[in-house]
Amino acid sequence: MSLTQQISLPNGVKYEQPLGLFINGEFVKGVEGKTFEVHNPSDEKVICSVHEATEKDVDIAVKAARAAFTGGEWPKLKPSQRGQLLCKLADLFEENVTKLSSVESLDNGKALALSRTDVTMAAGCLRYYGGWADKIHGKVVDTQPGTFNYTKHEPIGVCGQIIPWNFPLLMWAWKIGPAIATGNVVVLKTAEQTPLSALVAAELINEAGFPPGVINIISGIGRVAGAALSNHMDVDKIAFTGSTLVGRTILRAAADSNLKKVTLELGGKSPNIVFADADIEKAIEWANIGIFFNHGQCCCAGSRIYVQESIYDTFVEKFKERIRKNVVGDPFHGDTFQGPQVSKLQFDRIMGYIEHGKEEGAVVEIGGKRFGDVGYFIEPTIFSNVTPDMKIMNEEIFGPVASIAKFKDIDEIVEVGNATNYGLAAAVHTKDLNTAIEVTNRLKAGTCWVNCYNMLNTALPFGGFKESGVGRELGKAALANYTQVKTVQINLGGLG
Ligand code: ADP
Repeated sequence: MSLTQQISLPNGVKYEQPLGLFINGEFVKGVEGKTFEVHNPSDEKVICSVHEATEKDVDIAVKAARAAFTGGEWPKLKPSQRGQLLCKLADLFEENVTKLSSVESLDNGKALALSRTDVTMAAGCLRYYGGWADKIHGKVVDTQPGTFNYTKHEPIGVCGQIIPWNFPLLMWAWKIGPAIATGNVVVLKTAEQTPLSALVAAELINEAGFPPGVINIISGIGRVAGAALSNHMDVDKIAFTGSTLVGRTILRAAADSNLKKVTLELGGKSPNIVFADADIEKAIEWANIGIFFNHGQCCCAGSRIYVQESIYDTFVEKFKERIRKNVVGDPFHGDTFQGPQVSKLQFDRIMGYIEHGKEEGAVVEIGGKRFGDVGYFIEPTIFSNVTPDMKIMNEEIFGPVASIAKFKDIDEIVEVGNATNYGLAAAVHTKDLNTAIEVTNRLKAGTCWVNCYNMLNTALPFGGFKESGVGRELGKAALANYTQVKTVQINLGGLG
């Protein structure tokens, strides 16, 4: 199989899709000659096949990264030069926004407008971390006369990064930005469902002028290439975004191999809480964004909606009316809000949860069925009267399915809101500042929104309490995941 393929997109964009593994600054075939198919979730057809990384390719990529970390140009660059490279990459993302976002919509199925936002946010993230590159400082610490002590924040080394399919380019940037700003080198594995946009972005790495081997991008299957990366004895750190199930496997792999440092951004079942005094129209808009944005394929999705009892019936009626206006369909159509789910596997899982909800006796307010006959489209679905024991209230569905229940007061909602092993996000809608502060103080979640939802910002840390993760992404906090502190203690005579 060749290393590129011409692809024509529904919006008229034609481009040359790279298909190889991006290792040491070049696109190459996998050593075992394996490939896998990439499907278009809108029509279920094969778009193309890409070269697949096996354990041997992971090893080659890790060696290339190690060589770039220890020799060549990279370790000699000034921090400000690393920052300039990231800013150049951000510029190239912006210059190529139409191409990158079109590829994203083709491969992932997300509406083109969402893909454009993802690319813009990815560029913003790369630029933000470019800005941090020359601002990572240690401290001088006085302990006693006749000594001089200081700390340095050094890069960890070769970072394995495993990303999911729900925001392929954005997760690419969230991972690469802080790793590169702090002077590490990277082997990043994309999700097998969505490898295409990352390979187009890999071309931009060369155009930006990164030395070969600093950023390597491989397409591969989780239990093969992902496992090889997380078990590798010469990978110093692994950063993962995906399911809690796989997160546990990664942590075990780190424990069983070289105790590489691990950061995990995992699942969620986030409560979105609407108090009776909230601006109901606005709360409905945010509840829509909370659960139906990105087709419900967000780890922080507000999938448990709790409404205070006095406004419950009104909320359900109005919410239903609002959701009817969400346009489901072709991601390349200008009006589309919700495209297909990413894959047949996800489609089947979500439909399984919907059937469960019906069997368990929750009320289907709207939706509950497949949309159309081709592609992995699902009607936006709202279940009301959902009780705490129901599967749809407890498990992460990762699709356009909202479960609504009512609550009485603050004490009850704090208990119910926290009654999950997850702790990624939560939201409160109220006009009362005391309620907002008390509830957000008592909720066990890494991000708490008040009168909004899904408002991620590059400057604000994001990550999970409890089983939703380890470490933080974004903001200054992410830099700590990619540096290790070295203490230097100099005896100027004070220690004898
Ligand atoms: P989902 O269930 O939503 O597809 P996963 O957690 O399975 O999410 O996948 C997220 C990422 O983890 C993907 O890049 C996938 O290839 C990778 N992955 C899956 N299984 C493993 C594994 N056993 N070891 C390492 N990575 C894996």
